[in-house]
Amino acid sequence: MKKRDSDFTTPERLENDVEFDQALRPTAFQDFFGQQKIVDNLKVFISAARKRGEALDHVLLTGPPGLGKTTLAYIIANEMGSNIKITSGPVLDKPADLAGLLTNLSEGDVLFIDEIHRLNPVVEEYLYSAMEEFRLDIIIDSGPSARSIQLSLPKFTLVGATTRAGLLTAPLRARFGVTNRLDYYLSDILFTIIKRSANILGVKLDDFGGLEIAKRSRGTPRIANRLLKRCRDFAEAEESLKQHKGVITKEVAEHSLKMLEVDEHGLDEMDKRILRTIIEKYSGGPVGVGTLAVAVGEEPGTIEEVYEPYLIQEGFIKRTPRGREATEIAYKHFGSTKKTTHQESFL
Ligand code: ADP
Repeated sequence: MKKRDSDFTTPERLENDVEFDQALRPTAFQDFFGQQKIVDNLKVFISAARKRGEALDHVLLTGPPGLGKTTLAYIIANEMGSNIKITSGPVLDKPADLAGLLTNLSEGDVLFIDEIHRLNPVVEEYLYSAMEEFRLDIIIDSGPSARSIQLSLPKFTLVGATTRAGLLTAPLRARFGVTNRLDYYLSDILFTIIKRSANILGVKLDDFGGLEIAKRSRGTPRIANRLLKRCRDFAEAEESLKQHKGVITKEVAEHSLKMLEVDEHGLDEMDKRILRTIIEKYSGGPVGVGTLAVAVGEEPGTIEEVYEPYLIQEGFIKRTPRGREATEIAYKHFGSTKKTTHQESFL
């Protein structure tokens, strides 16, 4: 099956971005900014588990791509003083793949399964007893000589990540002791993240330049880091920006982001398609999410869990009992104004 963009918990993973992610990925809570409540709770659970000398309970992290789910898994392992093994739902194709991974873990290790909503149902069944009782029942051979052997596993912590919490089965979800949903970041937090990244990469950046990037990063640290890197390229190589001496100033950021076609709210192609569709095809709505999904060629669940939260947070769309409606802000974004119907203006 072809993978769609929305199947990844990370948007458009470009090859050099993966390397770049690694260099910038915080490894301790002190460098992980924002998501305060989640961090505070995890710190308590980690310190309690450490005091008892036990593995941390299984943790489920949900939320749109690029918000720090993988990063938190690394931090959890680091703060627990244990190792981490990384895999993803679609990679664990057969029960034997899972058995191979689990039997190689040591006591207290973290197993990170990205895109956990895409686990093969058979593998998922095996995971239940592994999570709950730390054992695996494996059937070997087939036909009359088939027998089941029981493997006991070290007490490990499963950290599962998904952009599509709605697709998780109830039994899997119930086996996580800790569940957290990550939210989009506000620009002041993104600004702090950008300053840290600039420091690590040796990028020259002033506060106005940093704020401009932060505002246009769609509330997402991964996008903020990527835009920082692209702005650096412009600052260093663009002739017309020479007088800024390689520093990312507001002007450099504005010029670079314009060249990169990033608008002032950082909306991506699908965001714009969703808004335009509501405005142009459905006269501003309300339109049901199913209808909208067909019109933009995306799954309804992905619209609800990946795109819509940001558009709602920024005030571009409203959820009403009759469907999604574009707001005045959305109209303004495309340079038009919302026509109020006779009925609405009467009301
Ligand atoms: P996800 O797994 O949710 O798709 P990642 O954990 O891979 O997202 O995050 C992408 C990148 O964004 C990381 O490499 C890291 O540099 C940065 N990042 C994410 N969250 C934070 C944060 N809270 N503070 C600092 N950097 C962050």
